[in-house]
Amino acid sequence: MSTDCLFCRIIAGEVPSTQIYADDSVVAIRDIAPQAPTHVLLLARQHIASVGEVGKADRDLMGKIVAVGAELAKREGIAEDGYRLVVNVGRNGGQTVDHLHVHLLGGRHMTWPPG
Ligand code: 5GP
Ligand code: ZN
Repeated sequence: MSTDCLFCRIIAGEVPSTQIYADDSVVAIRDIAPQAPTHVLLLARQHIASVGEVGKADRDLMGKIVAVGAELAKREGIAEDGYRLVVNVGRNGGQTVDHLHVHLLGGRHMTWPPG
């Protein structure tokens, strides 16, 4: 855990959040500033700064996060209409928290290309 990382502090329970799923490698919380009716953040339990830092050993973790996202989309009732999984990477990608996470967004129509 990184003590100066917001998502590490959320995972540790030091910062409150609405947690909807947790297992040994993934924690899912509701985004504090939802951009869609359903906006869930799928957090890696371990501190990895971004997708750019995902090494060979962590590749299973990315697959796991995506699978949990698909499962939660079903649970949230957005799977049938469709949804979006988003990973922002670095400054141009719009990443604001340097802890590996995937956004699960749904409940409205998404436009393309993204802004
Ligand atoms: P990023 O911009 O790095 O891809 O995504 C970070 C996300 O974290 C943003 O959607 C932002 O709204 C969310 N966020 C920032 N601070 C908090 C917080 O304290 N709690 C929760 N639940 N989400 C947060
Ligand atoms: Zn962290």
